[in-house]
Formats: sequence, structure tokens, C-alpha cells
Amino acid sequence: MKRRPRVVIIGAGMSGICMAITLLRNGFDDLTIYEKADRGGGTWRDNTYPGLACDVPSRFYQFTFAPNPDWSHFFSPGPEIDAYFARVASEYGLPARTRFGAEVTAAEFQDGRWSLTTANGDTDSADFVITATGLLHHPRTPHITGMESFAGASFHSARWDHAITLSGKRVGVIGTGSTGVQIVSALAGDAAHVDMFQRTPHWVLPIPNFRYSRAGSALYRGLPGLNRLAYRSLRGVFEWFAVALIEPGQRRDFIETLCRISLSRIRDPELRSALTPDFDPMCKRLIISSGFFTAVNRDDVRVVTAAIDHIEPRGVVTTDGDLHELDVLVYATGFDAHAFMRPMKLTGRDGLTLDRAWAETPRGFQTVAIPGFPNLFTLIGPHSPVGNYALTAIAESQAAHILGWIQRWSTHEFDSIEPNQQAADDFNAAIHRALPGTVWASGCDSWYLGPDGTPELWPWTPDRHRTMMSRHDRADYTLRRVDAGE
Ligand code: NAP
Repeated sequence: MKRRPRVVIIGAGMSGICMAITLLRNGFDDLTIYEKADRGGGTWRDNTYPGLACDVPSRFYQFTFAPNPDWSHFFSPGPEIDAYFARVASEYGLPARTRFGAEVTAAEFQDGRWSLTTANGDTDSADFVITATGLLHHPRTPHITGMESFAGASFHSARWDHAITLSGKRVGVIGTGSTGVQIVSALAGDAAHVDMFQRTPHWVLPIPNFRYSRAGSALYRGLPGLNRLAYRSLRGVFEWFAVALIEPGQRRDFIETLCRISLSRIRDPELRSALTPDFDPMCKRLIISSGFFTAVNRDDVRVVTAAIDHIEPRGVVTTDGDLHELDVLVYATGFDAHAFMRPMKLTGRDGLTLDRAWAETPRGFQTVAIPGFPNLFTLIGPHSPVGNYALTAIAESQAAHILGWIQRWSTHEFDSIEPNQQAADDFNAAIHRALPGTVWASGCDSWYLGPDGTPELWPWTPDRHRTMMSRHDRADYTLRRVDAGE
């Protein structure tokens, strides 16, 4: 007789949606999603800045179980992606299974079950907890002297203030990562003037973003196999690209050549030199933008390379003494990529807290589990980002893996499961041995790096991750039964 697990998923973003649907499609319907915001969508709900798009092509950045024939662009805009996830979630009835505005503040494993508490004092319990709390979720705003004195509007890119119109205004953007580049490309020509404050130039690859024609969309609607073909072809491209990230060789050289040739699109040699990084392409995340070089070629867009000294009511003062007068200041300064599910207080077996387990740096097992935390799984957890691969594909294989363990629980193979410390130590040691060959460790600073300066990414091919997720090796885990011990 199979038993029916009660599952709590924390987070109703892309990966939480993926996990919930994977469970429902396999008959596990005693599940509740906790979402701290008033609607789902995760990063696509939080980021609403002008120019927002995904730099993974839409026909790959989608669920294989919910192909969308109607993507408008090769790289579709953020609101369209947000609407896609909302539609898929609705199709599977997820809103009715979600407690919105309910932030899980604590979860503790006691007597073989998880007890959860929310910020408004509600409690719940579950056989399994699955965290789907996102990676780039906590905005990072630097402290700059005088920033609070700025007289205009200022906000982080992930907290965009839509009450402020930017047309005809003087806008400053601090940060030259994927976000800053998208914002500057979108504002050029609309704002009166854009100052982009650059601490470090990033490599930009201008891949054109084409619109699908009506006939093209009709073809994708009429021939579902075409969607699968496009998905597989793009996956192949990203797997080719992943090899360039993880080992030196011709592929890496080829991308470097493309990046260097692209820079010739910047007309002014002085600006071209200022925008040429002194580290290898892809060491920081490679920026895909078709509009950035066009934007910086404009007279009303200026890349400010002098360091920021302080901020005063009228604008930003750089170390060369210049005052850059602004009406609006945007912090496109990135995220804390190492918080994961924190500040939630997680307490596993024998009172082990996540803060203690992760005192040095976040560490898990095979990207989905943590020693000492039985019946807890993580989606897009430590070492999950697989290069520039689609996180939708990573989440799908992780969700299928987690499902496999829950199925085994339902057939009474065990009551609780957690990875062995030794298996996790071996896994993390192997990652650390592989990382020096990756481009992320080739000598630049980025959000990929953990506190000890090593990149916290998957250092092998996406295929290796997929294969790992397709296996369930009991030897790596401690499986306990309530009646019989281990
Ligand atoms: P980011 O890549 O971490 O870039 C942050 C930028 O802010 C960097 O240029 C950094 O300079 C600058 N910065 C930080 N503190 C500063 C300070 N005190 N003074 C001056 N500059 C400062 O953040 P992001 O652009 O938000 O992108 C983060 C990630 O989100 C991306 O790598 C990508 O994975 C994802 N993303 C994806 C898309 C997409 O199209 N799919 C779009 C946006 C974001 P330094 O370089 O010198 O550190």
C-alpha cells in the first residue's frame, strides 16, 4: 500500500512551479506552496526594469512539458516570460495550492517531520520540504558615501519604481553587468541623457534578437515537433558553449575572437579601449545584447570610467572631481548570490542549523540535498548554476530526481533520507578539483565567486548534471526507518 507524502514547496518562482507540476503529474497532490509575495513568478515578478529580457533563447528557456509556440522573440522580454510561468502555473491549478503573502521564517525537522512557521505566525507540517527560493533574489546595494542625500529618485534594478517617468530625464546607472547593459540599451534615446558608471568593463556579445513572424508562430503552433526540435537544437548549442566555459581550447578561443571582433562596433577608440575588459571573456557572465554598442555610440549616453567618490543631492561625484548631475539613479549592482533560502531559519537533525552547516560557505550534495537535513531538497541550490545553461532545464532534472526519492518514500523504502557527509565531502572536493580549469577561475571578480574566492558553479558539462540527476544511488544517502533505525 503506497503512502501519500505531504510536501511543502517554498517559493512559487520558476523552480517551485516546476517542482509542483512534476509532483502533480505523478499523482502526488498533497502539496502546498508557500510564497512570501502576493503572486508567483520569482525573478520575473521582481525584475520589471526597462529592457528586461532573458539571455537564454525562449525556445530553450521554457519547460519541456509546457512548450509555448507563441514566443514573440528569440530572446523574449521579461513580462512575456512572467506571463508564461503564470499561465503554466494556472493550467495546473497551482494558485489554489499556494499560500501567498506567507513567508516561511523557520522550518525544523522534529520526530521525522518538518514543522514550519510563517512570518504571520501560521504553522504547518510536512513529510518533505523542498526549497525553491531562487539564486539571484536578494538585491545588493553598495554603501556609497552620501547616497541617502541624493535629491532625485533612486532604487535598485530589482525594485524598479514605475511611478517615476524616465523620458527626458538625466538617468545614472551604476553597474555594467547584464542588468545595467539591458537598462542602458533600453533607456538610450528615451532619457535625456544616460550616465553609465563603470567600475569594470564586461564582455558583451551582440547576438541579434529577432522577432518571430506570424507565419513562424503559426508553424510552431501547427507542428509541436518543431518546438521540440528547436529546444534540442538550442540545448546542443548551450552544451557546446558549456565546454568553452569549463575547459580551455578552441571553443573558448573562438568565443574570445567573436567578443574582440564585436568591440570594433564601438566607433570611438578611446571608448572602445575603456570598454575592453582585461580578463578573459566569460570569466564574468558573458553579456548578450544586440543594442548595447548602438547605445554607447550615441552622444546622449556616456560611459563614466572614473570611480565614484561620493553622491550628493545633485548627482554622483567621481574621483576626478566631476559632478554628474542626475534626476534618477539606478543601482544595477547585482545580488547576494550566496544567501539561497536564508534568512529563513532551517534546523535539521539534532538541532543543526543551516547557518552553522554553511558557516564557511553554502555546500550541498549533488545540487539537491544537504547533509544533516533529512527529507529536505533544494532546487537551484549550491553549485546548481550550470554555466549559462537554461535554469528551467536544470530545475526539471532536479525536480525529476527529487520526485524519484519521494516515490521511494511512498513505497516505504525509508522514512527519512539525507546525504552522507562523506558523499557530500567527496562531491565538493571533486568540484574544487575541477574548478581551476574553468573560465570563472581565470582571474576576475564576479558573483560566481564564494567567500573563499572559488566559483560556486557546476564545473562539468550539463550532460553530466543530467546523468547524475537520473540516478538514485542509495549508497550516497542515509536512509532511516522509524521502526528499524538505519
Ligand atoms: P552583476 O553581474 O553582479 O553586476 C553588478 C554590477 O554592479 C557590476 O558591474 C559591478 O561592478 C557593479 N557594482 C557593484 N557594486 C558597485 C559599486 N560599489 N560601485 C560601482 N559598481 C558596482 O549583476 P546583474 O547585472 O544584476 O546581473 C546578475 C546576474 O543576473 C547576471 O550575471 C545573470 O546571471 C542574471 N541576469 C540575467 C539576465 C538575462 O538576460 N537572463 C539579465 C539580467 C541579469 P564590477 O563588475 O566591478 O564588480
